[in-house]
Order: sequence, then C-alpha cells, then structure tokens
Amino acid sequence: VAFGFDSHAVLAAPETLIAPIAVILCVAVLSAPLMRSDIEHRTDAVVDQLTGMLNRKALHARVHELTMQSEITREPIGLIVADLDHFKAINDTGGHNAGDRALQDVSSLIRAQLRAFDLAYRLGGEEFLILVPGSNLDQTTMLAERVREGVCSQEVADALHVTMSLGVTASVNGSSFDYNDLFDQADAALYRAKRSGRNRVCTAAEASFEPEPEPA
Ligand code: GH3
Ligand code: MG
Ligand code: MG
Repeated sequence: VAFGFDSHAVLAAPETLIAPIAVILCVAVLSAPLMRSDIEHRTDAVVDQLTGMLNRKALHARVHELTMQSEITREPIGLIVADLDHFKAINDTGGHNAGDRALQDVSSLIRAQLRAFDLAYRLGGEEFLILVPGSNLDQTTMLAERVREGVCSQEVADALHVTMSLGVTASVNGSSFDYNDLFDQADAALYRAKRSGRNRVCTAAEASFEPEPEPA
C-alpha cells in the first residue's frame, strides 16, 4: 500500500516500511507458540493426565450444556457410573504402576464401546461416569453391559483380568435432565451391583429394592 501510495517517499526512507514489517513478523512468530500453549493448557485443564479421559471440570461444563439442551429437546439422557472391582488388590499384588496401566487400558476399553457423542469421564480413582445423550434406560443399560463385557473380556496391564460394576439410569423422555438426581440413582444402582456380587450392571429401578448380601 505504501509503495502504491508514494513509492518515492518509501525509497527515500525505507525504514518507514521496514519497521512496521518487522513488528508484524515478530507478532506472527510469537503468537503461534502462544496460541499453541493456550490450547495445550485448556486441554490439560479438562483431561485426566493418567487416562486421557475427561475430568470433573469437563463434566460440570457438559452437565450445564445438557441441562440447557434438555429444556428444549426433552430427549432422554442416560447416565452410567462404573467402578472397577477389587482394584486395590491389583495395586497390592502388582504395584502402583500395574494399577496405573490397568486404569489406562480400562479407559481405552470403555472408550472403544462408545459413540462419538457419548462422553466418558474419570471421576477419580477407579470410578468412571458415562453420559449417553438420546438414550433411554433400556438403551443405556445395553451400552453398560457392552462396556462391562468389553472390560472383563480383555487382558489389562499385560496379563491381568479386571471386572467392573456399573449403575445405570436415564432421564425420562419428555422430562428435563436433573444431573444430581440421576447421579444419586446411578450411584445407588452401582452400590447394589457391588453388594450383589460385582461384575454386573444394575439399573436405578432395581436399586430401589433391598440390597442382597454378597456371597461368602
Ligand atoms: P470395590 O470392588 O469395593 O470397588 O473395591 P476396590 O478395591 O476397587 O475399592 P477401594 O476403594 O477399596 O480401593 C480403590 C483403590 O484404588 C485404592 C487406591 O489406592 C486405588 N487408586 C485410586 N486412584 C489410583 C490411581 O490413580 N492409580 C492407582 N494405581 N491406584 C489408584
Ligand atoms: Mg472399586
Ligand atoms: Mg471406587
């Protein structure tokens, strides 16, 4: 533009053009790594470092979105809470590293059963939560069963076998999404799955019954 406007003035004092070009180049060179670092920090904030699963912070954001969305769509949303069985024994026998590798492998096995828009979170320790938008109780229960089979049918951390207990619930078609209520229902169902022998899926409806004693 400067050349087109007054090329003689630019040639007489080239520093008037060189200075702004240098500034633009510096900004371009410095902003690329800054943007990359910003994206990395944002990713780190919502992804669990050990397993690569989403963390609680990401869960809160997604719950907020789904709550807003369900006010409009009133579509069902499934919720699964899953907990590895006797996981402490893996740490005790194989060491903490074996436990960590088992958590990483289990996370991959869980993700392998999910569709792109189902989201899996690590709540902490060996406990996971899966949100299944658009799925009713039957569909969510079937998915939970596939996750359970997927986890227990494969070896993890080289040669270990683990099992998983899962509690399932879903919001009713036509109603809005109440995360706290659904979480409590799924957690109660998980408790029942543990009490009734582990390595199984229990639904919120069943969870209202008295827990059965665990086999000796
Ligand atoms: P249950 O079937 O009743 O769920 O028994 P459990 O042994 O799975 O559950 P418990 O709560 O007794 O033990 C959980 C263990 O998980 C204890 C803790 O040391 C271990 N743990 C939690 N987070 C991690 C982690 O990030 N890495 C490893 N290796 N172990 C972890
Ligand atoms: Mg456990
Ligand atoms: Mg646990």
